[in-house]
Amino acid sequence: MAKIINCECGEAIRSESDDELVAKVQAHVAEAHPDLVGKMSREDVLAMAEEA
Ligand SMILES: [Zn+2]
Repeated sequence: MAKIINCECGEAIRSESDDELVAKVQAHVAEAHPDLVGKMSREDVLAMAEEA
């Protein structure tokens, strides 16, 4: 089942799998929100996700 995260910066991150979603979000955070690196766990990412 696909999931989507709408980041606070307006970026929408969508993936078909939890593992890929977490990896994409962490890559986005590293690029766009370096202050948040290390502060978002897998559980945090999945808690933010909505079904797409
Ligand atoms: Zn963002």
